[in-house]
Amino acid sequence: MAKSTLDAGWSSLKTMLEYKSRQAGVIFEEVNEAYSTQICSSCGEISDNSPKGRADLNKSSWKCHCGSVHDRDINGALNILAFGHERLAVGIPVL
Ligand SMILES: [Zn+2]
Repeated sequence: MAKSTLDAGWSSLKTMLEYKSRQAGVIFEEVNEAYSTQICSSCGEISDNSPKGRADLNKSSWKCHCGSVHDRDINGALNILAFGHERLAVGIPVL
């Protein structure tokens, strides 16, 4: 029940962002956030030290094998931003 309520909330937010973006004339593009907290935003690899699954939800910072130290949330946000830029670079089909 809680998950379906949460999904409905995200769906409403997404719908609102889509039409508000259209009204403002800006691009709205949804990206897949899978592995965004695990992938190192510096080297692009998934390190053995990166937080994985529910067991590592309390792991707020980690060090990649490339030497970068990451805050879990900031690293995830940087990866999602990079995913969005990659999609924009490839191009979005015009409907
Ligand atoms: Zn790294």
